[in-house]
Amino acid sequence: MNMDALIVGAGFSGSVIARLLAENTKQKIIVIDSRDHIGGNCYDYVNKFGIRISKYGAHLFHTTRQDVWNFISAFGSWEPWEHRVLAKIYPRDDSDDFAYAPVPICIQTIQKLYDSSVQNEEGMRRWLVEETRSIKFQAPYKNSMESAVARFGHRIYNDFFHSYTLKQWDKSPEHLDASVLERIPLRYNMDDRYFTDPIQMLPSCGYTGVFQELLNHPQIEVRLNTDYFQERHCFNGVNFTVFTGPIDGYFASRGLDRLEYRSLRFEEDTIEMGDKDTVMQPASVVNEPSMRVPYTRTVEFKQFLNQRSTHTTLVREYSSSHGDPYYPVPNERNTKLYATYQQLAEKETEKERRTVLFLGRLANYKYLNMDQAIGNALDHWQRWIKDGVIETHD
Ligand code: FAD
Ligand code: UDP
Repeated sequence: MNMDALIVGAGFSGSVIARLLAENTKQKIIVIDSRDHIGGNCYDYVNKFGIRISKYGAHLFHTTRQDVWNFISAFGSWEPWEHRVLAKIYPRDDSDDFAYAPVPICIQTIQKLYDSSVQNEEGMRRWLVEETRSIKFQAPYKNSMESAVARFGHRIYNDFFHSYTLKQWDKSPEHLDASVLERIPLRYNMDDRYFTDPIQMLPSCGYTGVFQELLNHPQIEVRLNTDYFQERHCFNGVNFTVFTGPIDGYFASRGLDRLEYRSLRFEEDTIEMGDKDTVMQPASVVNEPSMRVPYTRTVEFKQFLNQRSTHTTLVREYSSSHGDPYYPVPNERNTKLYATYQQLAEKETEKERRTVLFLGRLANYKYLNMDQAIGNALDHWQRWIKDGVIETHD
């Protein structure tokens, strides 16, 4: 096969490296993906009601890294979009009298559910000191339950985090690294945005449009429906491979235990609204931290970039242990097991002057936001040049 570099996976990790190789070397690059589309988990499409849906769950781009933004904003056009999330909180008795409250926890959350007299940062700090007074857990926290209870107190922990996490991970927060719930910030002000990064954008023509531009280069060929493990014999002559699939899949023949992942099942429902601007939910994403429903959140895609349609499509997310690997499960067992895979990966990289590099969310067994996946690819690219793994044409 006439090619110099093979990239396995057409998500951000693989596509960014493909683009960098194309722009900076004379190499012919082939990008393969086992799926029937580009974009990895960021893939989106417009449904028959004219609403753009992200096939693998809502994707909000946000970053603090200007270099990442400079790079990716050159592909497609992007519009500012600040994401807000409400959680549906039921009372502790059996009544159905629920309330919507902002996540992350901020002053409005406390006002809505617990104490309407909290008005400012000083009041919020005082309220939290009272709420956490009797809690003995101290940093470094042993797990996500400890870190969340220490920060928020028992009431917020039980209302917002315990059951949601149980549904999402099929594990109680006691059995998950502290990092899982540390992702959720605590705000002492009235900023109810989900993210505070200075750059928060959505692509006007969807992520798929961004990927089409990223991969649109005469030196890049894309082959879909091509699984590396089934077709690797076709690529024997290639000396440079970047693998962005699951690392335990790559080394499956070594007989090690497999890493654990969580997957999602999406249930879609479209409702006729008549009016093009009418929506069903009070926010684009409504979290469901209660055990009263089995799903974790409902996304109303029409709300992103204020799309207009006579219909609206709601997508409920159910967490599952079967299906495509989405979330690495951060706990002690998986962290240790991944370290063993990492050692195999280092040896593979150096084998027989054939270079195989492992990159991205699945190969690094790490939850990476999109900007981190792009940033990681940019950083690795610089390192590979410095280490002489790649020679650029200038
Ligand atoms: P992926 O996108 O997973 O791409 C890997 C590709 O490799 C896949 O297309 C896969 O099919 C392919 N592949 C795997 N094995 C093989 C094989 N054997 N042969 C051929 N191809 C193979 N990030 C944000 O910044 N904001 C968000 O709001 C956000 N929301 C998210 C919501 C969900 C539900 C999930 C799961 C993730 C979310 N993310 C979000 C994270 C985002 O999806 C990742 O940062 C991004 O997808 C990482 O890109 P990647 O290329 O490393 O991996
Ligand atoms: N989480 C929660 N309640 C919420 C939102 C999040 O318990 O209302 C927990 C849950 O364990 C989740 C983690 O915080 O997996 C990270 O949340 P985030 O919204 O960042 O998850 P993602 O969007 O990546 O699924």
